[in-house]
Amino acid sequence: MLLRASALAFFLAFCLGVALQAAAPEKSIPIVVFDAGHGGKDPGAVVNDLRESDLALEFTHLLREALLRGGGVTPSLTRTQNKDISLAERSAFVAGSQAVFLLSAHADISPDPSVSGVRIYYPHYQRSKDASRSLKTLKADLTRYEKSYQSRQIARQIASSVELKAGVPVKVVPADFYLLRQASVPGVLIELGFISSEADRLRLTEDAALSDLAGAVSSAIADMAESRWKTGAHR
Ligand SMILES: [Zn+2]
Repeated sequence: MLLRASALAFFLAFCLGVALQAAAPEKSIPIVVFDAGHGGKDPGAVVNDLRESDLALEFTHLLREALLRGGGVTPSLTRTQNKDISLAERSAFVAGSQAVFLLSAHADISPDPSVSGVRIYYPHYQRSKDASRSLKTLKADLTRYEKSYQSRQIARQIASSVELKAGVPVKVVPADFYLLRQASVPGVLIELGFISSEADRLRLTEDAALSDLAGAVSSAIADMAESRWKTGAHR
């Protein structure tokens, strides 16, 4: 009887193991958050009726569609329509999303109409000013350094893909943006172009060109889902 009971327990454990293994691939599909900047009463930069908030929203929708087709990541959007959403709400959304990565989309404006191109910002590393150098401070410093380092690597990978596949020049720059600073995961803020530049305005309003840009960014993200995020080792 004891033997039969242990055989049954072994059989059940085996079945459970098989079931867990079968469920594993779904669990490993990484979640990425796409945040369309501004929205609602805040249109962001506006030139000739072209609104930054609309561009950002369209871009995140294109990104989501492209990545859903590929199936390698689960895209999650902070907003899907033209509505108000505060930075604190966006930050809380990222924190509650189980995401491995955050991308916030914006468009830039400059007093110099000749300035154009894509900028990708990643959170810069700033060492804590806490003089105690306690273990807690050192740990927080290391976490910030790691997030900045990984974000820069991802920013560079997205930049290469955009330059190669969409043919647009990109600058990768460290910065201190609230959303990137608050997020516990690596993230980048992409400025899709300068709406103060006539060339960029044309590029951003041409459906195919914006799709090309979204295609190039999503292809870099899909590659990272395979190489960087698939096993869950990132967390
Ligand atoms: Zn903006």
